[in-house]
Amino acid sequence: MGGMKKRNLVVANWKMNPNTFLDAKKAFDGVRLGAKGLKNTDIVVCPPFPYIYPLVKLNSPKNIFFGAQNISIEPKGAFTGEVSSEMIKTLPAKYVILGHSERRKMGETNEIVKAKLQRAFGADLVPILCVGENERDKEGNHLGFIKNQIKECLIGLSKKDLVGINIAYEPIWAIGKSYLEAMSPTDIHETVLFIKKVLIEQFGSDIAGGSKILYGGSVEAENASEIVRIGNVDGFLVGHASLTSQFSDILKAVDLKR
Ligand code: PEP
Repeated sequence: MGGMKKRNLVVANWKMNPNTFLDAKKAFDGVRLGAKGLKNTDIVVCPPFPYIYPLVKLNSPKNIFFGAQNISIEPKGAFTGEVSSEMIKTLPAKYVILGHSERRKMGETNEIVKAKLQRAFGADLVPILCVGENERDKEGNHLGFIKNQIKECLIGLSKKDLVGINIAYEPIWAIGKSYLEAMSPTDIHETVLFIKKVLIEQFGSDIAGGSKILYGGSVEAENASEIVRIGNVDGFLVGHASLTSQFSDILKAVDLKR
């Protein structure tokens, strides 16, 4: 890849929290504070659907972007309860998390995730594709599982769309716990290298070089710096800690990577 420096990326996945818009606004104030002074890092805030538009309307620094946590597989029409890629785009929001393990648990297959990726690209949204194994074993079967997820979600997409693809590696067993139970930085490093290798094999070094690999799963203030230093990640997908004051420390830790 020609010398363009990749910016770090930190995605805040609020999931189905907080309960009121007032609390969402407070959490967002925290993100704005944390965004101050960052030099190399972009932040993507992914609130529940009803909060996106009113938060977009507030003033934000240039390094804060918005994203949805999901989109419909369908473009428009009689699909009660669904939200389309075009609707998200026009808010305007730029990103969408796809293939999160909590959505996969509700029945999203790789095939569905791929169709949603195509919807996202069709609306000029930037997807963050989540992959990750349920459990690890000594035989390394989890690596085959991750490789299969990447292949089934991405093969057949156009090269143009794959340029700059964001992949969030989230081992399911490490999600929603404390930093003590997160993945170790050296294991993260190993898996990130594996994911890069899969991208090179399947799509070539241009695509692999331009893509961002994030880690997600119990990133907190305590383990963020170590993972940045050793894990070779381009950023994080942060769940529970993104709604707390720790988020600023996580952002600072990531911003040290340049
Ligand atoms: C997630 O669900 O994407 C996630 C990373 O959650 P947590 O940070 O809470 O483990």
